Amino acid sequence: MTESHLRIGVIDPEVLGTYGDTGNALVLAHRARSRGVDADIVMVHLDETIPADLDLYVMGGGEDTAQALAAEHLRTSRAFSAALARGHAPLLAICASFQILGHSYTDAHGRTVAGAGLLDCHTCPQGFRSIGELVSTPLLDGLTQALTGFENHGGATQLGPDATPLGRVKAGAGNATDASERVDGACQGSIVATYMHGPALARNPELADLLLARALGVSPGSLAPLEVPFVADLRAERLAHSQVNTP
Ligand code: GLN
Repeated sequence: MTESHLRIGVIDPEVLGTYGDTGNALVLAHRARSRGVDADIVMVHLDETIPADLDLYVMGGGEDTAQALAAEHLRTSRAFSAALARGHAPLLAICASFQILGHSYTDAHGRTVAGAGLLDCHTCPQGFRSIGELVSTPLLDGLTQALTGFENHGGATQLGPDATPLGRVKAGAGNATDASERVDGACQGSIVATYMHGPALARNPELADLLLARALGVSPGSLAPLEVPFVADLRAERLAHSQVNTP
């Protein structure tokens, strides 16, 4: 990053773009530019080595077979993985990306695929799909507002001790429906992972600004306030739809 120039990487949009999660990069770029920070979106494709020197990364959701290609890509992009393991830059991972950043996932056909091992978690098939609105109370420091998204996944993810959940579920399934306490997502080092599509950052500007602030090396409170009325309306409408009364 130069003084006021942020480079946002979108990893493997051709296989992790099924659910519109590339929109997260658009939200980040818009919120950066609105604060006077120039932002470029860098599409990183399957046949390229993932650059290790970008400032912020996003990865989206995808189908079981497609996400196996992305898992292989992560495993072979060693400099990127090493940089992430050091906490070099924030990474937002959605659904399939959450799963492939873990130690392994087993798909709906019983095939087990090795993940990047950057998140302490494993994913196994639930035998059904969790589809619908997902609302949680944030557990990550710096977040105060309810998290809202849309989930659509057949995998259930168990976290190990090195990962902490992003939110406590108030509506929807989150990581696993059979857990004694339902949670969504995982946070470990500079990685934030979640089952929320939406795109998640269009619905959760506080999370977008937390990631931006981390990428810029500033505190979230130092970013100029940015109210987008449409976003406030969207949040209110979605939270009302989930019949969850949250701030
Ligand atoms: N294929 C994975 C699952 O169904 C991830 C789906 C997604 O990214 N929405 O669990």
